[in-house]
Amino acid sequence: MPVTIEITPVEASATHSSKLLTRAALDAYDSREESWQKQFQRRYTHHSELKGVLNQVEDVNETVYSKFAIAVTPYMAQLMDRDDPNCPIRLQYLPSFNEETKPGFATLLDQLGEEGDTVPGTSVVHRYPRRVLFLVSNTCATLCRFCTRKRMVSQPDGAVAKDHITASIDYIANNPQIEDVLLSGGDPLTFADDRLDEILGQIRSRAPHVRFLRMGSRMVVQLPTRITPQLCAILEKHRVQMVNIHINHPKEITPLLRERVKMIQKAGVMMGLQTVCLKGVNDSVPVMRELFMQTIEMGVRPYYVYSTDMVEGAHHFIVPHHRMLELYEGLRGWISGPAVPTFIVDGLGGLGKLPIIPQYVKEELLPDGSGTTIKCRNYAGQTVEMPGLGQDYALPTHSN
Ligand SMILES: *Cc1c(COP(=O)(O)O)cnc(C)c1O
Ligand code: SF4
Repeated sequence: MPVTIEITPVEASATHSSKLLTRAALDAYDSREESWQKQFQRRYTHHSELKGVLNQVEDVNETVYSKFAIAVTPYMAQLMDRDDPNCPIRLQYLPSFNEETKPGFATLLDQLGEEGDTVPGTSVVHRYPRRVLFLVSNTCATLCRFCTRKRMVSQPDGAVAKDHITASIDYIANNPQIEDVLLSGGDPLTFADDRLDEILGQIRSRAPHVRFLRMGSRMVVQLPTRITPQLCAILEKHRVQMVNIHINHPKEITPLLRERVKMIQKAGVMMGLQTVCLKGVNDSVPVMRELFMQTIEMGVRPYYVYSTDMVEGAHHFIVPHHRMLELYEGLRGWISGPAVPTFIVDGLGGLGKLPIIPQYVKEELLPDGSGTTIKCRNYAGQTVEMPGLGQDYALPTHSN
């Protein structure tokens, strides 16, 4: 029996007085000592507020706000370099002139074509066989300037219409071919525990055919105190099998983050990492090696590195395809295999995730057509050519 779910994500509107507007106030702030909801209310939502705590904050035009809101948790602001405008965390979260001068892609609001694959009346994107993306929230704790879902994530209250949530659960329950549900948004953890408990509980009770229940959340990184024993008990109760977190630079890994990741792991949840390849932030082999080694040290498996999508105002972050191939080659063979993620570009207009894979092994037809040869190249650039075997398979008719 479907139950109507009341969805009220955390109250996002901050009262000015709750903000930490001086450096001294920010330095003295201990995010362990306050509820995550209160920290949410203390978020900086205008660049002028950040000028009180950081130097060299760009005076961006107000038009930036009409395109994408600004939100930074105090915890995240503490991780930012006070003086360096090129700090990899500042680059991700502070608006810049680049968003105005290189707006680009203005018409590509939904460049991944997610709306075309959204089941009408729901917030379920059903693009791939047997699995769905369930967008449960329209907001995040801290807003990334390169966000691929800018068209929806900037909503001030973060609410996905509750009838859409109910209809989404109905859809999952009524389609037994769905065996994998990925909760995302925005950030599913912007919900209060009881709401999350209700959504997960309904999926588990009404859709026993769902074999894999997972969640993507950057809040674990942006506001680690969101992870509480109560939340972990909910994840365990509903057998959430995987939580994917999103980290782009080793500077985002702190003792507090490590501690809260361990709490999630103790609830029996496998953890993965996703990263966006961002110019100036992590488009460097040493930075990526360090990031992925630090994450597997925590028992978090690097899963995907995404190219920056062609969203408006994110032009300056885009790393060209050939550079992404070089970055991949700087990882494979050079660091532990489990620390090497798959690199992905999302095809324009709904093509979906496409792996970016350098070619190490190439089978070519021999000139006389009598068989094939395999040209191999290893991570260090050594090569070998071997005879193609298994000739009982049909030979390729062309080489590429
Ligand atoms: C990324 C994504 C998924 C999950 O893809 P996996 O490769 O299985 O992790 C599912 N649906 C949509 C629409 C997605 O974008
Ligand atoms: S965490 Fe993800 S969904 Fe949220 S603002 Fe950043 S990129 Fe967008």
